[in-house]
Amino acid sequence: MTQQTEHTPMMRQYLEIKSSYPDAILFFRLGDFYEMFLDDAVKASKILDITLTSRGKSSDGRDVPLCGIPFHSAAPYIAKLVEAGEKVAICEQVEDPKSVKGIVKREVVKVVTPGLVVDAESLKPNENNYLAAIVPAKSGIWGFACLDISTGEFKAADFPDINALISEFYCVNPREVLLPASLKDGDGLSALDGPLSERTVSFIDEWVFELDYAQRLHQTVFAAPLPPAPDGKEMSGGALAAGALLHYLRETQIGGVAAHLRPVVSYMVNSHLVLDDMSRRNLELTATIQEGKRKGSLLWLMDKTVTAMGGRKLKQWVNYPLVSVDKIKERYESIEELITSQLLRDELVALLDGVADLERLNGRISLASASAKDLVALKESLARLPKLLSCVQPLQALLLQDTIAAIDPLHDVVELISQGIVENPPFLLRDGGIIATGFNAELDELRVISREGKGFIAQLEAREKGRTGISSLKIRYNKVFGYYIEITKANLAGIPDDYIRKQTLVNAERFITPELKEYEEKVMGAEERIAELEYSLFQEIRVQVAGQTGRIARTAESVATLDVLASLASLAHGLNYCRPEIDTGDLIEIIDGRHPVVEAMHVSERFVPNDTVLDNNENQLLMITGPNMAGKSTYMRQVALIVLMAQIGSFVPASKARIGIADRIFTRIGASDNLSKGQSTFMVEMAETASILQYATPSSLVLLDEIGRGTSTFDGVSIAWAVAEFLHDARDHAARTLFATHYHELTELSVTRKGIKNFNIAVREWNDQIIFLRQIVPGGASHSYGIQVARLAGLPQEVVLRAREILKNLEHGEFTEGGEPRISGKKGRRIDVDSSQLSLFTPPDDDLRNRLKSVEVARLTPLEALNLIDELQRLV
Ligand code: ADP
Ligand code: MG
Repeated sequence: MTQQTEHTPMMRQYLEIKSSYPDAILFFRLGDFYEMFLDDAVKASKILDITLTSRGKSSDGRDVPLCGIPFHSAAPYIAKLVEAGEKVAICEQVEDPKSVKGIVKREVVKVVTPGLVVDAESLKPNENNYLAAIVPAKSGIWGFACLDISTGEFKAADFPDINALISEFYCVNPREVLLPASLKDGDGLSALDGPLSERTVSFIDEWVFELDYAQRLHQTVFAAPLPPAPDGKEMSGGALAAGALLHYLRETQIGGVAAHLRPVVSYMVNSHLVLDDMSRRNLELTATIQEGKRKGSLLWLMDKTVTAMGGRKLKQWVNYPLVSVDKIKERYESIEELITSQLLRDELVALLDGVADLERLNGRISLASASAKDLVALKESLARLPKLLSCVQPLQALLLQDTIAAIDPLHDVVELISQGIVENPPFLLRDGGIIATGFNAELDELRVISREGKGFIAQLEAREKGRTGISSLKIRYNKVFGYYIEITKANLAGIPDDYIRKQTLVNAERFITPELKEYEEKVMGAEERIAELEYSLFQEIRVQVAGQTGRIARTAESVATLDVLASLASLAHGLNYCRPEIDTGDLIEIIDGRHPVVEAMHVSERFVPNDTVLDNNENQLLMITGPNMAGKSTYMRQVALIVLMAQIGSFVPASKARIGIADRIFTRIGASDNLSKGQSTFMVEMAETASILQYATPSSLVLLDEIGRGTSTFDGVSIAWAVAEFLHDARDHAARTLFATHYHELTELSVTRKGIKNFNIAVREWNDQIIFLRQIVPGGASHSYGIQVARLAGLPQEVVLRAREILKNLEHGEFTEGGEPRISGKKGRRIDVDSSQLSLFTPPDDDLRNRLKSVEVARLTPLEALNLIDELQRLV
């Protein structure tokens, strides 16, 4: 960059403003355009696919790259840049160019960032759009806060360690993240690499992360102090993170924080059932594990909501299942009542169906970006509420009553918008035609003048035709001359003296008359004034409505809750779910449980229900064996999903269920590679297992599926064995556990440990084929049926036969001294299908081993060695 003094004054102004917004693309208003210069222009022209030109040369002879977009159609361009993860600083002319000499004053009036977009096109209706802040605080604690500017939600928490923070981070899934600048080059960031990738990250000055500053900001914005953590202690990192968000809001929204933003709500990891990120993904709560799609997830199955707000709220309920028996029961009670009042529910759903996204309308109104259409949508939605209220009035359940009581039909707002704004306003504010007749006397008068003026001109045209006898005479209008009279060349002879010539065309001439100009002034003056007045009246209305954001927010929240409860009732009713009994005991008892999603997705195979009993005593760890494809994983997930749904407050897919609340659910399922973290499958598997063993408590529910599969058989079975023992024996960590394994050796654990019970998923062998019965039955599986499954899957006959042969050899314990299977050179032996199972724990050829061990090699003479080999050979 050349020295600023060598630039034109305008370029100097640009560079000065740009220096305050180094990481945003600066939209620099020049007349009717927003221009971008230099690197911004290069970057933006690529993203927006617009032409890059140059604006002369700078003093060092380099071209100054430039691109621009018309200001009145900027919105889609801004949206596209933000979608690409960029921030856009909008710099306006803040003086009237006509009234100043030289350079017009310009200022950035707003910075649009991915975490702070509010326009409907940039947002998914049933997803929140969060801006988050992360800050490492004292003694290993991490602070986290997030807000959704489009709905006004704002929350903060302390996390005991970085793993807990990362789990929450994935759950919130923010678009944009703020971090203290000190983390920029430090190593502290490496654990966050994965979570932060593909999100916009902004580094915030260190001084912002001060408790005093956070307190002061919160007090200023909300006239209330920052709340303490739910346990009554002062928040540390959470408070700093919340402060950083408020600071960032002020910087980007210039001139204040949105009025609809609600004060910080503090929360804690264990205010809810805790699920780490891996378990969330394994259980496919909001997206499938394979493709990350919503379809096929639990949320997809459960979502029968009809409003965008309800959709978002249900997602929150799914993400944060409860641990309070009372709160869960309140939800059951409401669902039960809504199931029995089916007619009422149908009517309620029909009424909810037309309710627009009140939360986001509220956000746009408060941020002064709402259009007249938005206000009409608000009015129409609110206008449904009285009917809705009378519909739900008979409902008795406590939660329903509380929810209904918080609905405010906002008659005053409906009244104001009905009177002020026409039924079907145009989308663009500057087109006028927004304000309703009768709302403002001056406006009505101006409209009469404008209309009469136009009528007069029509009359004038008729009169002039008569006076001149020229039937082709026309009065027309254009922007340059205003109104004029057009006469074709052939008729020019007949024009009166008072016509003043304005323009000559090929075929015609254009004239004006004083009378015409007089009316023109009246009409044009009126129209200009109408446009101004309409706009300011609209703004007044919007500001008045914005004064009611608190009431609108509360109403929106209640409408969302009603929607979710009705959705859960429809779900339970439609799919024949039962109301669980719930308590803080340890017993989980499920009769005829089903996997909610598999049941709904795989309609071709009838889903076979299964029972479950888990507790902290005799049924603490269920060791589930059975061949591949039998249904082990499905069964385990179904238990976890039923517990989870019960704690979400939903009915569950079972004929009867009793759920002792879980504090956490852990799952280690399948072999999912985490390549982005550069860890091998087995490493990931062990890291996850380690964290389960560390954090599981007797109140937890643990699912371990095929643990140890990622390494050799001996390693794997040993690890699986030791893990199962630990989960049983270490009483502080003795979680209710489902343990699926294809190592049937593990069934022996139940002999010595009273809390371990064996189960297997029944199969029937028939003509060397295998039939899956999908029924869980007591006892261990006798063998793995891997080869039958392989055959079922279409492995060539030849390979299947050879595999049988090798298996046979293995089962006869034919191992080398090193424990490797001795499988070569035995091809062609007859196969006995009913051979007994292999036990990996019987060491092969004990005599041989013992003899070998006793040899003192250093003392052997060559002859003794030869004799020894001969002796050993006999033992084989
Ligand atoms: P495993 O873990 O034992 O290899 P899975 O749980 O993956 O087996 O189940 C294999 C398939 O069997 C699943 O895709 C599912 O469609 C089907 N399945 C599992 N359990 C049942 C059931 N109870 N009823 C009907 N189909 C089932
Ligand atoms: Mg499986």
